[in-house]
Amino acid sequence: MLVIGLTGGIGSGKTAASDYLADKQITVVDADLASRIIVEPGQPALEAIRQRFGEQVIQVDGSLDRRALREIVFADSTARRDLEGITHPAIAAEIIRQLQQSSSPYTVLVSPLLLESSQHTLVQRILLIDVPEELQLERTIHRDGVDEAQVRAIMAAQMSREDKRRRADDIVVNDTDLTQLHRQLDKLHQQYLKMAAGNDGVSHGKT
Ligand code: ATP
Repeated sequence: MLVIGLTGGIGSGKTAASDYLADKQITVVDADLASRIIVEPGQPALEAIRQRFGEQVIQVDGSLDRRALREIVFADSTARRDLEGITHPAIAAEIIRQLQQSSSPYTVLVSPLLLESSQHTLVQRILLIDVPEELQLERTIHRDGVDEAQVRAIMAAQMSREDKRRRADDIVVNDTDLTQLHRQLDKLHQQYLKMAAGNDGVSHGKT
């Protein structure tokens, strides 16, 4: 199965890009969604979090108190590593489960942390949605109604644009309108279909 990892910084246009490919009947597995599923009530990862961090991170209805947990791990790197030790393997397992259910010619794994986490080992190719930082800021502020400092702090914590560009196999520059985004994706879609059919002339791994 050919899996394309789609990544990019906050507000770069990952959702805009993956929605477009989903409209072409390509299965999109969303790492953010997987990270929420694995901490739903009844899931083993939530139980492990309760054991490690106590009832203070569980709300009265049994769901995870994300804010409380965020505050704990923000201030304590050991706690953060422990949390990641619980969640990362569970997220990877959920992603793999969903990838295995896909029957489209190729599958897209969309993840903001594809390169920062081990999720990139689940894909054969990395597609970066790349935008200049000013545009990233502008679009995110407009979309979320948040202030500039908040977005800049998130951007500063993410891998740099240059490092992402270096590691990508394909780069879509999303600096104009959606028509331009779609045009670039159309080309890549054709390329990925060929790769999936095995007639692209390029060897790629199999999962
Ligand atoms: P996040 O990582 O924060 O979830 P994302 O990478 O999924 O973000 P999107 O939500 O797809 O980014 O895009 C950010 C905002 O910019 C959205 O409001 C989207 O509609 C808008 N946007 C994306 N691409 C374009 C474009 N080419 N032209 C105009 N607006 C765009």
